[in-house]
Amino acid sequence: MLIAGNWKLHKGPEETAAFCRALRDQLEWVDGVDVAVCPPFVSLSAAVQALAGTNVAVAAQNVHWAAEGAFTGEISAPMLFELGVYGAIVGHSERRQYFGESDEGVARRAHAALEAGLWVIACVGESAEERESGETELVLKLQTQAIADAVGPHDQLTIAYEPVWAIGTGNTATPDQAQAAHAFIRSLLDVPILYGGSVNPENASDLLDQPDIDGALVGGASLDVASFSAICRAAAPSS
Ligand code: PEP
Repeated sequence: MLIAGNWKLHKGPEETAAFCRALRDQLEWVDGVDVAVCPPFVSLSAAVQALAGTNVAVAAQNVHWAAEGAFTGEISAPMLFELGVYGAIVGHSERRQYFGESDEGVARRAHAALEAGLWVIACVGESAEERESGETELVLKLQTQAIADAVGPHDQLTIAYEPVWAIGTGNTATPDQAQAAHAFIRSLLDVPILYGGSVNPENASDLLDQPDIDGALVGGASLDVASFSAICRAAAPSS
């Protein structure tokens, strides 16, 4: 089971260091769960330092496909690797929606990160309109296939199923809806699959109990140490 916290545009270096120190204390006794935090780029170094010697991984929220070059504002996989960062998210729906990232670009980012030795969480998910018009599987197929074509079932690749309508809305997918989407994605690409979309300490167990849900990518509820730790505890095998 893997629980990853996507902090989005929250927490500068100081707040990050304090959060990571508190998280370290909270998770001391949680066994059997892989935990990762994904701070903004400027806070990655603080997280790497504060979590050194623990099992908590630090991942970036995005990564560019080029190792270097004329790409103002971007960060490359070798740069992250040099910083001691373990992995990166690619293709988050906010990147697709607000920054025009395409299936092809997401696949290139995933490929470059894996080549550089990073672990990758690649996000896929349908919008409310796509679900309502019966296009969920078509969208998941196009997004997942682009990643599969670029990298295949790489052992450092994780997919996150994040229905756009469930992100930051409080409208969590039901365990049955999430399970159905995960089983479909797994039929296309057999790698670990996280669920993301309004996961909180109350709904985590029911979602994580589903056979094809291998963990969670948590946004809002990962910003608070107590709620993020509670979700990590809910993922522990004995809970
Ligand atoms: C996310 O942005 O990856 C996410 C799942 O957000 P939230 O948990 O806030 O819905």
